[in-house]
Amino acid sequence: MNIKNSVIAYQEAVKHIPGGVNSPVRAFNSVGGNPLFIKKANGSKIIDIDNNEYVDYVGSWGPMILGHAHPDVVEALHQTAMNGTSYGAPTVIETEMANLICQLIPSIERVRMVNSGTEATMSALRLARGYTQRDLVIKFEGCYHGHGDSFLIKAGSGALTFGTPNSPGVTKGTASDTLTAVYNDLDSVLSLFSQYKDQIAAVILEPVTGNMGVIKPTEQFIHGLRKACTDNGTLLIFDEVMTGFRVARGGAQELLDITPDLTTLGKIIGGGLPVGAYGGKKEIMDMLAPNGPVYQAGTLSGNPMAMAAGLTTLKIVNEIDGFYEQLEEKAAFLAEGIQKNLEALNFPGVINRVGSMFTLFFTKETEVNNFSDVMKCDTDLFAQYFKLGLENGIYTAPSQFEAGFVSIAHSQEDLQKTIDKSYDAFKQLLAL
Ligand code: PMP
Repeated sequence: MNIKNSVIAYQEAVKHIPGGVNSPVRAFNSVGGNPLFIKKANGSKIIDIDNNEYVDYVGSWGPMILGHAHPDVVEALHQTAMNGTSYGAPTVIETEMANLICQLIPSIERVRMVNSGTEATMSALRLARGYTQRDLVIKFEGCYHGHGDSFLIKAGSGALTFGTPNSPGVTKGTASDTLTAVYNDLDSVLSLFSQYKDQIAAVILEPVTGNMGVIKPTEQFIHGLRKACTDNGTLLIFDEVMTGFRVARGGAQELLDITPDLTTLGKIIGGGLPVGAYGGKKEIMDMLAPNGPVYQAGTLSGNPMAMAAGLTTLKIVNEIDGFYEQLEEKAAFLAEGIQKNLEALNFPGVINRVGSMFTLFFTKETEVNNFSDVMKCDTDLFAQYFKLGLENGIYTAPSQFEAGFVSIAHSQEDLQKTIDKSYDAFKQLLAL
């Protein structure tokens, strides 16, 4: 595979960009090698600056549920840009966006737009603290909620990949306000509730995880969590930045039949532009300025370009009959195909999938249900599989601790190719 231009581009990039990337998850440090610089993308494919084409399962880390450069999204952006890209004053499209989000996710009665998932979770936590007048928060080992100080404690995603789940630079005071529990282990949460009685403002979690790979909560865990929060006057925050409009039209909360107090969103609701949002019960959201005393603001919040791309995406997702059924079929076909290959070759691996999110864990275990299961994975084997994927025209996240995403643009041919190439790759790895 010729990646000559990407090699040169990377050498140039590192001169003035730390690590050559504007987000660490894009670096190939943990798998070895040179990150690919992308020239363009269309539908299910991305093309690098050496003109190599890949079937893309990163999808910009989740937003591209319609595939890249969907014509309606591109047209909406074009039309919007012609009228100016930001005013710093209200626009009608923001109300339309809020209406649609509240309609599709009924636990959200009021919603505030921000510019990233990080902003959404930081703001939701501040609001939860303001509302409950308590300081502590519980998060789960391996969950990632953006790079806000409070969340860089036992964090997943890039923080885990690069070995810095507890980041230097977070003050001891902030760190001590974040308590951590074990995903899918209700007792670990209950013991914190009894130890810190009436002090816990919020429990935040990825209701289906993606940032330590895909893990579904057990019924007992997620229902127990809801009850524990209610019993203790603690707000339950579902971080649906990744799962919102991804695992079901109404997000993970619809799939799991749980009503959180606050929800954070991002990724898909921006249609590929920078966006985040947080929302929930009216009574809580009314604590926000200008109605209430909890302050949060943004020069570009509700930006017309982001609203245009996001609203167009959400409308398509909402209006296509059987959109999520189609997506489910595609993702199930892919995961079942890979599963059959694992079995046929007796290759050690577990594939977890929830809707169109999936992770192939390189492990000898038979199940992956929590962070310690994830930590048993063979990351060296993953790195070799990842490289074979690239050579075979398949682009996945360069880390074991991430989710892959199937979009509506992935064709049967794309999926079959991915399955066939996984068979070849497993065989090659067994022969090593
Ligand atoms: N929460 C979750 C669950 C995420 O997956 C992410 C990003 N991967 C974030 C928050 C942070 O979002 P952003 O990168 O837009 O700040």
